[in-house]
Order: sequence, then structure tokens, then C-alpha cells
Amino acid sequence: MTPLELALKYAQCGLRVVPCHTPTSAGCSCAKGPACQSPGKHPRLSAWQKESSVDTRVLSEWFRRWPETNIGIATGTVSEIMVLDVDPRHGGLDSLKRLEKQNGGLPPTPTVSTGGRGFHHYLKHPGRAVKNKIGLLSGLDIRGDAGFVVAPPSLHVSGALYAWRPGRAPWEVQPAPCPEWLTCRIEAETSKTSETSETSKAICSCEDYATVEAAIRETLPECEGQRNRGIFRFAQRIRGIAEFADLPVNKLKPVVQQWHKRALPFIDTKAFDETWSDFRYAWPRIQHPGGFDLAKLVHRLEAEPVHPAAAAAGYETRERRLLVALCAELQKNSGDRTFYLSSHAAAKLVGTSPRQAYRILHGDFIEDSILELVEKGIAGGRIASRFRFTWRAPE
Ligand SMILES: [Zn+2]
Repeated sequence: MTPLELALKYAQCGLRVVPCHTPTSAGCSCAKGPACQSPGKHPRLSAWQKESSVDTRVLSEWFRRWPETNIGIATGTVSEIMVLDVDPRHGGLDSLKRLEKQNGGLPPTPTVSTGGRGFHHYLKHPGRAVKNKIGLLSGLDIRGDAGFVVAPPSLHVSGALYAWRPGRAPWEVQPAPCPEWLTCRIEAETSKTSETSETSKAICSCEDYATVEAAIRETLPECEGQRNRGIFRFAQRIRGIAEFADLPVNKLKPVVQQWHKRALPFIDTKAFDETWSDFRYAWPRIQHPGGFDLAKLVHRLEAEPVHPAAAAAGYETRERRLLVALCAELQKNSGDRTFYLSSHAAAKLVGTSPRQAYRILHGDFIEDSILELVEKGIAGGRIASRFRFTWRAPE
């Protein structure tokens, strides 16, 4: 089948097509050329969400205009699909294997081998909002409403082509409904912070509910046998929040209920009593409240020599140096997971403006390969962004 014939097949299946740029020997067919950050992986039309199409004439015209065009498929309600994107470079294969082992495999559903050794599993859209989500688990992303995926027979920057797995093209198998366990996981991860916010505000004046939210998200078990460890880490994190540290443990029940509710799909012991009992047991025994007494931490870091990452980047300002050291500590604290930091909190800690902190965290640090931005926070830096500290000392 020619690329155009494939595109027309998608249209017949109700999948809206988006023309995309193509990797070239010089990088990307877009204006950025060699400087393009995602060669061949972005739409050619800026209004692609509106212009994605199932119209034969429109599709034919695109291929006349750009014979070498890559193609994408718009995800979400417009095509009645959502896509689970498995990226092996970030451990997606392992994450999915773990989820499948625990919950049963994904049902047969249209599946693409991306040219980058990953997979796209096309699932039926559940009919309610599905947000795009990077890092559902390590290496697992969701492409939902207003998103898109690059589709066969597009060229991947690796030189390989995107291809349907045998027997798994959308005209061979219908998109399967999203399994319950995956829906739960998505909802747990994308559920608004408002519930946590209300819960934490009900307990104390804690305004920084993003911290509570982060504590919940970062300690949720990912598979069986992690409940105990998860609840202990959660207690540790909550204890590290100044406003919570000295509360009588019974006051914390609503927060623990939040954690339990969201952990439910991944734990064997379903009774809240058990979780609550473990939490109460852990609370007075915590010796190192979990890394969230940031003010104290920053104070300590200030006395330490310049972090090698800050030195390597040539930072001379106090706030940049401190923020590098702080991010390194936060990463250490969250092991191989990501960590959360809001520009507002960062600004307060190092004594700069939120705008400046935002520019340092989301600009300088990303450009200088100190941080990877895993998920951008919202509300102009009030809600924490999710980062990974990626700087490594040269060998
Ligand atoms: Zn490009």
C-alpha cells in the first residue's frame, strides 16, 4: 500500500489524519532543520487539530503537496481513540510488563511498532475526557484528547518505518476498550489536585497542596507487594511537610484515605483499616521526615561547595547554584523516580522572583541538560512541575 492508500484506510476507519514533517539527512523537513528537537514527529500545519481530516480530496492534496510527508493520527474524541505510547528508552517496556503481569495483558487492539523500538497501542476512547499524559509510569505515555501520534508508514529518525504489527492494523482489529486497570491508573494520575487540595486545607492551613499531591503520587505502589513500603514513604513525606509534622496522627486520616483510594487498583489488601493501621504505626517511628523541609535543606546546601553541575554550566549566581544543588538533593530523595518542584516554592527558597525561578528551572536547566522536564506544572508555576535530574559528571 502506498502512504496515501494507508492514509485513506485510516480515514475509512474514522481516524483523522494529520500531515507531519519528515526526518531528512539534514535533520527535519521543518524550518528548524538540523536544530529540530523532534524530527519527523510534529505536524506540518499549525492548526492541525482543526485541520486533521478524513476527506479523500484533502488527503490526496496533502500528498501532492508533500510527497514525502510523514503522517499522524489525531487522538481523542475526534478519532474515538486513545493511545498508550510505550517508550523503551525510558523503561516503558518494563513498566507495561509489570502492569500486565499484575492485571492481565492488554487485549488485542491496533498496535504500531514505532521505528524507535517502542509501541503504540490504540484503544477505544472511553467517551469521557482523556488528558494527554507523559510519564503515567516510566516510559508510558497517554495520547488523548487534542493529541496525536505518528502513524505508519512514517519514517522514524532512526531510519526505520512505523509499521502495524501483523494482524493488528485498525482494519484488522477494532480498538479494544481500555482495560479497567489502565483506566484506574490514568484517573489516579490525572485526577485533579482539587480533591487533595480540599482534603489538606480541611486539616490545616497548608496552602502548598501540590506538596501533598506530590507526596501521594510519588509513593503510590506500582505493583503488588509495595503497599507497606509505599505507606511508609508516604508517612515520611507527609511528616516532612512542616504544617503536618506535629499534628496528632488521627487528624491525618483524610489524607491517608486519599492515598488509599488511589492505591486501591495496585494493592492486594483492599481494606482501609489495614492501610490506616500501617500509617499510624509508621508515623511516630519516622526518623527522617521525607526531604520536604526544604528551607532547612537549602540552608545546609548553602554551606556546601558549588555542585559540579553548576560549576560545569558556569553558573555564577547564588540562586542558580543553590537551585542546582536543591534539584540534585530532591532527585536523590526520590530515587529513580521524578521529583516535584514549583517555581513559586523554588523562588521563596532561594530568594528570587517566581518568574526568575521559572526561567531558571524551565529554561537554563533544561538547556544545560541539568534537568529533564517530565511534566509541566500549571497555574503559572504555583503547581509543581515534575523533573528528573539528568546531569552526569563526565567520565
Ligand atoms: Zn522538525
